Amino acid sequence: MNIFNPTLGELVNTYNRASDSVSEFTDNVVDLDITVRVRLFGRSEDKEYEWKQLCGSHVQWATIGTDPPQIFGDLREVDGELFVNVVMLGHELLHVLRMKDKRLKDPDGYEGL
Ligand SMILES: [Zn+2]
Repeated sequence: MNIFNPTLGELVNTYNRASDSVSEFTDNVVDLDITVRVRLFGRSEDKEYEWKQLCGSHVQWATIGTDPPQIFGDLREVDGELFVNVVMLGHELLHVLRMKDKRLKDPDGYEGL
């Protein structure tokens, strides 16, 4: 049950339109071949345990610059299927991409857009 209005799908579309409104097309190209370990946990205590082995502090969603880089995040369920927050996964994936190409804007700097 979604207690929010609009739905998540509508919010993604709204986010896409908002992203377009604050940016413009460019002549640049980003073409990266990356390896990333994505570690999503349905139980936060499992995620905290694994994260503390690497960093020793609390985490919600995060990226760590190991080799290969690792994304830590939450794994939930909707209607019996595994569910991932696409906004958070995209945010963390962009951190990984920036490790290879610093031309990409830091997603932590999106708050002012
Ligand atoms: Zn971030």
